[in-house]
Amino acid sequence: MKPFIPQLVYIEPQALEYPLGRELKEKFEKMNIEIRETTSHNQVRNIPGDNELQKYRNSKSTLVVGIRRTLKFDTSKPSAEYAIPLATGCMGHCHYCYLQTTLGSKPYIRTYVNLEEIFDQATKYMEERKPELTRFEAACTSDIVGIDHLTHSLKKTIEFIGQTEYGQLRFVTKYHHVDHLLDAKHNGKTRFRFSVNSRYVIKNFEPGTSSFDDRLEAARKVANAGYPLGFIVAPIYMHDDWREGYHELFQRLSSSLDGINLNGLTFELIQHRFTKPAKKVIEKRYPKTKLEMDEEKRKYKWGRYGIGKYVYPTDEAKDLEHTIREYIHSYFPEAEVQYFT
Ligand code: SF4
Repeated sequence: MKPFIPQLVYIEPQALEYPLGRELKEKFEKMNIEIRETTSHNQVRNIPGDNELQKYRNSKSTLVVGIRRTLKFDTSKPSAEYAIPLATGCMGHCHYCYLQTTLGSKPYIRTYVNLEEIFDQATKYMEERKPELTRFEAACTSDIVGIDHLTHSLKKTIEFIGQTEYGQLRFVTKYHHVDHLLDAKHNGKTRFRFSVNSRYVIKNFEPGTSSFDDRLEAARKVANAGYPLGFIVAPIYMHDDWREGYHELFQRLSSSLDGINLNGLTFELIQHRFTKPAKKVIEKRYPKTKLEMDEEKRKYKWGRYGIGKYVYPTDEAKDLEHTIREYIHSYFPEAEVQYFT
């Protein structure tokens, strides 16, 4: 899979007041990508396409270069204290993606260029909490690694956090374009996680992302570059033969990480969930999806902003958790499972 290149770029005029904004404009001009001006991302209209579905697909290859106005960071439990806002949106087409809920009507990708202001805000949060550590999650609203070869804002964030005393950074990705991050001065403060899943899930629900083997090759590279490494198994999904499917996943994971220093390896486990609004959006955008979203077969769990989610019933969730923990324990006995949710 080739690194992401946008087909269309919008630039907010204010973004040009920042060095990164000007740099990106120049870069996209040289690449001969069509650039349009927009006063605000909310005015990004007229994304080409004859129908909703085409507009949606084209949105996913549209990049908006803008500034982050709201500097209040969202919380990001259970993996971190705060979400550090570097970008929103993603070019991937994972059917189950959580962005179907949070960015339902705005699926284009936005990158923020006012990094200094974002870092100043992060510093305030760290000051408030010290001497406790403050963990920042950079992949709450996008797959930041997948666009960073264009912007390098993640690289700058890794180096910013690397210099702090009380900060830590983490993010997760399904992309393998990590080469420019290998020489970042991370000082061991960034946990680089890869999203992994059974063959069935990757094949049926994750179009537009890097293959499992490419992700694993990238994982080896970042581990060799001294980054603390982690894997997120998400969404854990009960497909036919899921036990064998997930068993094979850990077998492949273990054989491809043979010889790599796995000190401090972590796993995070997230069962599949969906919301009612997301289900509607997913059915419209991926009408042929095999993704099972039958409310009758799930348990309702109250959620933030009054939007509840459907997770597996307690017994099934326990079975999933127990089975996956067993596999991890037998293939990676030293690894820490940070949570199952
Ligand atoms: Fe969503 Fe992640 Fe897939 Fe991108 S790679 S579409 S953010 S699940």
